[in-house]
Amino acid sequence: MGYDLIVVGGGPAGMLGAAAAAEKGLKVVLLEKNEKLGKKLYITGKGRCNVTNNGDMDDFLRNITTNKKFLYSSLYSFSNQSLIELLHSLGVKTKVERGSRVFPVSDKSSDVIKALSRHLHENHVEVRLNTEVKRVTQEGSCTTGVMLRNGSLVKGQKVLLATGGLSYHQTGSTGDGYRMAGQLGHSVIEPKPALVPLVCREKWAKDLQGLTLKNVSVSAVVNNRAVTEQFGELLFTHFGVSGPVILSISSYLKNYWSQAPVKLWVDLKPALSIEQLDMRLQRDFQTYQSKHLKNALDDLLPQRMIPVIIGLSGLDEHKQINQITRLERDKLAHTFKNITITATGTRPLAEAIVTSGGINTKEINSSTLESKLIKGLYFAGEVIDVDALTGGYNLQIAFSTGYLSGSSAAQN
Ligand SMILES: Cc1cc2nc3c(=O)[nH]c(=O)nc-3n(C[C@H](O)[C@H](O)[C@H](O)COP(=O)(O)OP(=O)(O)OC[C@H]3O[C@@H](n4cnc5c(N)ncnc54)[C@H](O)[C@@H]3O)c2cc1C
Repeated sequence: MGYDLIVVGGGPAGMLGAAAAAEKGLKVVLLEKNEKLGKKLYITGKGRCNVTNNGDMDDFLRNITTNKKFLYSSLYSFSNQSLIELLHSLGVKTKVERGSRVFPVSDKSSDVIKALSRHLHENHVEVRLNTEVKRVTQEGSCTTGVMLRNGSLVKGQKVLLATGGLSYHQTGSTGDGYRMAGQLGHSVIEPKPALVPLVCREKWAKDLQGLTLKNVSVSAVVNNRAVTEQFGELLFTHFGVSGPVILSISSYLKNYWSQAPVKLWVDLKPALSIEQLDMRLQRDFQTYQSKHLKNALDDLLPQRMIPVIIGLSGLDEHKQINQITRLERDKLAHTFKNITITATGTRPLAEAIVTSGGINTKEINSSTLESKLIKGLYFAGEVIDVDALTGGYNLQIAFSTGYLSGSSAAQN
């Protein structure tokens, strides 16, 4: 006997899709190739799981970087508040942190996974682990089920592909959904890394590995055109730069790497105008008159950054402060507000927090998430060509599209 719905992939999208369909009376099986559910969910938010964002719809739409309009129906049918209510009903209390990020009070992603597993169980979803799907079977333009890696067939009227993207593939997201949908005639927008660290050219930046700069502003400039400006925390690494501000920037740069290198203009003091910064320098120089330049900037910069800034300004670090000319002070202030880092590319897709690209949204009905090409085939989560910035938006997209696809499968 067949199933009403076969869900492929036990990540947040698949789990919610399966539960939503079963809640509405469908006989549902969830097939997951890993030995457990939610392997990627487990590592989200450094194990704390930034499950959604508490912002309003406008805020959500501002933070979605690819195909926001496509997501309207999904986000309206299962909003951040719906998710928070569901988690509460399943015994997971939540809290809101900086930037309206929502986490479980326990700070444990495993609590979210356990709750969703219970939700599946209570709705009588049959969960089969260690079960890898190889392809979706079809008759004419309708789905008939799936074929497993071991060659056996699982029959089902409808199939929901929730196999995730291509990043952090050790968690099971190995791009299988792109291949399976491609076999059925779907086009796949080239998967590219998003929310990913950037590789840079400057040796001084790599030498600063481990140093974090807080509250800086970074503008990405390609061919003299500013692509985006972001504000936040920057981290130097052995290959270049990372940290929240860089991850956000990377999501806007995904279509610009053919025009690399990209210039990153870092403003270390975005809250001060150049005149205010100059006044601040004059005050500090008054206090440290008899010191050498390298010993006079401690109030403005982290220790390791001082020789770098002095070097980039072309000044002599041993010059005594009362010998520094106005021109030299100007140079220093300008460097504070405009350090250039040359980004030559991104780290590989495997290291990206999300995959940008995926199943072409033009071939999916945004109100049901059913394929426009194959009847009975649905999509949810990162396998679709959608992605967002950090802050809980990507998980909400997975949950919302999961819910909408599962409930539409039950209605159609
Ligand atoms: C390190 C890291 C931290 C993150 N932190 C956050 C965060 O705090 N907040 C946030 O909003 N987002 C975060 N994300 C992004 C978020 O985890 C993903 O966007 C989300 O997990 C996508 O959900 P999904 O269900 O579509 O896919 P996935 O979670 O990737 O799940 C897909 C599932 O399908 C299974 N599968 C694949 N192919 C097959 C097959 N052939 N047969 C059977 N099963 C298959 C996989 O094994 C996997 O379990 C983070 C991502 C990473 C990598």
